[in-house]
Amino acid sequence: MPTTTVPNLPMPDDEVERALVVTAHPDDVDFGAGATIATWTDAGIEVVYCICTDGDAGGFDLDFPRDQIAGVRRAEQIEAAKRVGVHDVRFLGYPDGRLEASFDLRRDISRVIRQVRPQRMLVSSPERDYERIGRSHPDHRAAGQAALDAIYPDARNPFAYPELRLDEGLDAWITQETWIMGAPHAAHLPTHYVDVTDTFERKLSALRAHESQTAHMDDLAEMLGNRLRITAEQGGLPTGRLAEAFLVMATA
Ligand SMILES: [Zn+2]
Repeated sequence: MPTTTVPNLPMPDDEVERALVVTAHPDDVDFGAGATIATWTDAGIEVVYCICTDGDAGGFDLDFPRDQIAGVRRAEQIEAAKRVGVHDVRFLGYPDGRLEASFDLRRDISRVIRQVRPQRMLVSSPERDYERIGRSHPDHRAAGQAALDAIYPDARNPFAYPELRLDEGLDAWITQETWIMGAPHAAHLPTHYVDVTDTFERKLSALRAHESQTAHMDDLAEMLGNRLRITAEQGGLPTGRLAEAFLVMATA
């Protein structure tokens, strides 16, 4: 049962047909929003992931053959997606650790927006969180900025990247609302809390699919449970509930 402090936002899930998630790395969506994604797919929303890099600079095992990591991480993300009901994962193939909100990235995200035609999008925050440095990986900020720039103005402007329309037949598209994960507390929008108590186990399962990233985290369930419990308390949910938190902005 979602709760909200945002007037008129978000749209009810049953009015959303398609949602598009844009992140920098395989595993970002699962850490930030995996349990919420499960509530969306349960509600019948068709969710597509667009991952800007293959996460080829990630991992913890120095002996892992580096030329295999990109393929492994793609496969892990595809499996993790399945565990929360997502069966369409698209990779843009940018190099991990060097992502920039470039015109190329904006065009490539705009292409996916026009292909998927989502009513709702979920992206990383382009803002730095000064309270928790790990949230604000430069790639996350770049992906968030490029995605928001693609949402407005690029994807809706038929004259932006005209080759998308003229060569690929992709018409302009306006995304109604955008959810932002990992935003600093001091951001300018009220926070939307999703009660994810019932889908928390599927978030954990999705994260365990990212074996190259999480196999060494013995305390993953406890660490995440504590974090989501605190988030729920901040959102005024009943004691013992778990929540993921987002900024939700109107982008129509
Ligand atoms: Zn990441």
